[in-house]
Amino acid sequence: MPRKPFLPPNRRTAPTGPGKLDRVLAEARKAREARDAGYRERALKILPWVCARCAREFSGERLRELTVHHRDGNHDNNPADGSNWELLCIYCHENEHARFLDHDAGGGGPGDQPRSAPATHSPFAGLDALLKRKRED
Ligand SMILES: [Zn+2]
Ligand SMILES: [Zn+2]
Repeated sequence: MPRKPFLPPNRRTAPTGPGKLDRVLAEARKAREARDAGYRERALKILPWVCARCAREFSGERLRELTVHHRDGNHDNNPADGSNWELLCIYCHENEHARFLDHDAGGGGPGDQPRSAPATHSPFAGLDALLKRKRED
C-alpha cells in the first residue's frame, strides 16, 4: 500500500482553496439566477410581452431577449403588482442603463472619441474584495 504524501496541517485545512472560492461564486451566481428567474417569470405573467421602449413583441424562442428592468434600479424591490418592473428587450435595456453610465463620461454623443475600456470600473473589483475578505476570516 503506497504511503500518503505528508501534507502540512495548513494545507489540509486551507479555508480558501480555489475549489472553495469556485463554489462560493457558483452558489452566489445560482442564487442570483434563481432570484432573477423568480421575478422574471412573475413579470412575464402580468405584463404584455412587448418592449416598453421599442414596442417590439416577443414570444417563443425570442422571449429570451425580453428582460425585466427595475424602474428604481433596485433588483430586490419586486412588488407583486409589477409597479417596479418594465419589460425591455436586451438592446433597449442596455441603452437604459448606458444612459446612467454615460452621465459621468460626458454623454457619449456623436463626435466623441471612442474610448478604450474606462478604468473606472473593473469587473474583478468585487472578486478582489471577496478574496480579501476570505483571507481575513
Ligand atoms: Zn426594445
Ligand atoms: Zn434594468
